Amino acid sequence: YQGKRGTANVVVYAGGETGHPHQWLVVQAELRHALERDELVLFYQPKIAVASGEISGVEALVRWQHPHRGLLPPGEFLPAAEHSGLIVPLTEWVLRRALADQTTWTEQGHDWPLSVNVSARNLEVPDFPRYVRDVLAATGAAPHRLTLEVTETALASDKGTVARTLTELGELGVGISVDDFGTGYTSLSHLRGLPITEIKIDRAFVADVARDPQSQAIVRSVIELAHGLGSRATAEGVETVEVSEWLAAAGCDEAQGYLFGRPAPWPQIAGAPLSEGAG
Ligand code: C2E
Ligand code: CA
Ligand code: CA
Ligand code: CA
Repeated sequence: YQGKRGTANVVVYAGGETGHPHQWLVVQAELRHALERDELVLFYQPKIAVASGEISGVEALVRWQHPHRGLLPPGEFLPAAEHSGLIVPLTEWVLRRALADQTTWTEQGHDWPLSVNVSARNLEVPDFPRYVRDVLAATGAAPHRLTLEVTETALASDKGTVARTLTELGELGVGISVDDFGTGYTSLSHLRGLPITEIKIDRAFVADVARDPQSQAIVRSVIELAHGLGSRATAEGVETVEVSEWLAAAGCDEAQGYLFGRPAPWPQIAGAPLSEGAG
């Protein structure tokens, strides 16, 4: 498969990384076929507005329906996709499919904004904003109902190109979310000047927040930081009522986690309980 952006080359394993080189090349070759044969599937996880308890959006999370190995989580194939450059056409597939699904649920009366995860690799492609604009136009989706989630680490990867790409995406009206906040090595100065609309607090800090004073201090200051930047604060990995109540009291805007719903194929989102990994 040759991605339209032209970066879907086979990477010669350079060593020094974790994992097995042979296995990676196998995964890369298979993944290329998976894109051609439409073996990837999207699951969606709801986001909840903390104040109202209502669904405030959904995040698309990719899986691979592998012909022999079953349904694979992203951790099984995204590292190989990142290394080979296949992440670029993969993300484009996710965007197209997720926006098409959003059109369907909008027709069914669900006005949910959509969040899509984007790799640093995508942000290094100068015409990525134009791609996003074209897909939005093709599906008729409203830019303000799309948020692209970028990991904190990606923000630091190549300041010039990434910042320019994010600025252009912001100008389109698309939301920009900083994912896994608190786990990367980004200095706060990387956030300055970027059109950030949301900060997602990594679940490492959220898990213990009902009990652990240090987690509480960190989560409180990230909420304050988000609000100071004019962004929403979203907590991920909310698994208990205690955590949810603590977040509500702390003024967190949105929350996501198994407490509210696991990732599921989209027709199941509206009706809890959701299935993946349950029981
Ligand atoms: P992420 O963007 O931080 O997504 C959240 C991950 O945490 C998801 O794992 C989700 O299933 C899981 N999760 C949600 N709620 C809870 C909870 O309450 N407790 C626990 N323990 N886990 C929870 P998943 O689906 O395996 O995705 C892993 C990562 O793979 C994502 O982390 C994201 O970085 C990446 N990813 C997934 N889909 C895509 C995609 O389409 N494109 C790109 N570039 N990356 C993706
Ligand atoms: Ca995410
Ligand atoms: Ca995250
Ligand atoms: Ca994560």
